[in-house]
Amino acid sequence: MATTLDVETERDEFERLVDGVTLAGDDREGIEVVASFTGEPLATIPAGTAEDVTEAVERAREAGKRWADRPVAERAAVFEGLAELILDRQAGMLDVIQAETGKARLDAFEEVIDVAGTARYYAAEGPGMLAPAKRRGAIPLATRVEERHHPVGVVGIISPWNYPLALTVSDAIPALLAGNGVVLKPDEHTSFTALKARELLIEAGLPEDLFQIVTGEGVEVGPPLIDSVDYLTFTGSTETGRAIAEQCGRNLIDCSLELGGKNPMLVLDDADLGKAVRGAVVGSFNNAGQLCLAAERIYVHESLREEFTERFVAATESLTLGTGTDWGIDVGSLISAEHLGRVEDHVDDAVEKGATVLTGGQARPEVGPYVYEPTILTDVTDEIALCTEETFGPVTAIYGVESEAEAIERANDTDYGLNASVYTEDSERGREVAARIEAGTVNVNDAYVASYGSVDAPMGGFKDSGVGRRHGREGLLKYTEAQTIAEQRTGPNAPPGPVPNEWYAKGMTALMRLLNRSPF
Ligand code: NAD
Repeated sequence: MATTLDVETERDEFERLVDGVTLAGDDREGIEVVASFTGEPLATIPAGTAEDVTEAVERAREAGKRWADRPVAERAAVFEGLAELILDRQAGMLDVIQAETGKARLDAFEEVIDVAGTARYYAAEGPGMLAPAKRRGAIPLATRVEERHHPVGVVGIISPWNYPLALTVSDAIPALLAGNGVVLKPDEHTSFTALKARELLIEAGLPEDLFQIVTGEGVEVGPPLIDSVDYLTFTGSTETGRAIAEQCGRNLIDCSLELGGKNPMLVLDDADLGKAVRGAVVGSFNNAGQLCLAAERIYVHESLREEFTERFVAATESLTLGTGTDWGIDVGSLISAEHLGRVEDHVDDAVEKGATVLTGGQARPEVGPYVYEPTILTDVTDEIALCTEETFGPVTAIYGVESEAEAIERANDTDYGLNASVYTEDSERGREVAARIEAGTVNVNDAYVASYGSVDAPMGGFKDSGVGRRHGREGLLKYTEAQTIAEQRTGPNAPPGPVPNEWYAKGMTALMRLLNRSPF
């Protein structure tokens, strides 16, 4: 079990990072964080309380008032700096991500690139999106209307463990750029990644108090956080998302929820099998399948099924499994013993009920305590949980289909709607099929990076996969209160004093008729 990650060095680094956590009092209990590569204890994080949340939100709110007063170009410069800094400091960042999650180095690198791309995008485009914009007035020329965007105040972010850098910092960037303070509750497995990222943000020029982190259990820190912020961004499971949405609803605060998926990949009869096999490997096994966008259902046209299956199995068997910082490792560890158990249960249940394992299907303790083989199944019938429920591990299943229509119907036969992919050599057909799939992002001849990496376009879920969007205009303006300022320059919008109501109504009718026929 070769790992070049020095646990002792990481421990020192982690103890130092804990100083960055806001604590209202001393002597918080600790939550143990385990190194997923080895199962050894790494360090402890403070178990935050409601008191800590109050303190963190107050500090972020105060700092936010000063930050919002700064010109937007000045705020954007911080993220322009971050986009470079994260690339310069990637080695240390990758070590911490890997120590906490056990993922392969290339999977951790994907997070670094995501933050760099998001920071660069919002630094360049954000100020324009936030600038006051002219809107069409009630009466052309007479009513002058402007739309303005104000920060909401303090944004709360509750994040999961699977992409601990990307799903904390990349969501915080637009919130901060819009002029808000942020209080983040990272997942209890992966708080150190968030703490290290906060240091980078401060080095890039972010005021210290503006971005607060409260570590701890979701059930302890989450509810008081939702009770004290002005907007809540959540990424995690659909079940937790429902509980969070209920509380946000009671508090009348807006929220965005990026939830689970059971994502289909469609291999149409004219697909290039080289592209499709590559996409299936990336889509199913990147991040050891602990990816909300992962392809867990692969629908292949019967005419290609045999060859696709053979080539996909061969490509999967050539992947290098491992634990450590070596760039040559393709598939790393799962996060924890508990999660490994969940993945094993899903596969074992499917096999018991008649599914066939084409490759994989076993834990690999000699590689790492939570390592599971990349696994491909077939003969998974509709009543098997693995067919409909998210596995969130390196496990996928192949299903044969007779036609494009059947592939689309089966792809849509789910409560989820996060991501999908379509493989075809006919680009127009690909885009038409994509538009008929009920998912927030659909990739043609790519698994997920094409859509997720296109930060200018919205990303989020249909159906039970979420509410709201990250990325693009939507991903920035959701962190603002839109305000309409309307100035009536000439003529009243109500009957002027001496004019009888009936005359006024006639005049307005004539005006509306004129407008109906005019280009305004
Ligand atoms: P989870 O819902 O268990 O936990 C996510 C976060 O919520 C953690 O920080 C946790 O501490 C916190 N939490 C738990 N209970 C809470 C409560 N009652 N109140 C407030 N906060 C609470 O999810 P997970 O298992 O860590 O993450 C995996 C899930 O996340 C998968 O379903 C995956 O598909 C989804 N995910 C979605 C996206 C997306 O963009 N749609 C991205 C990554 C992961």
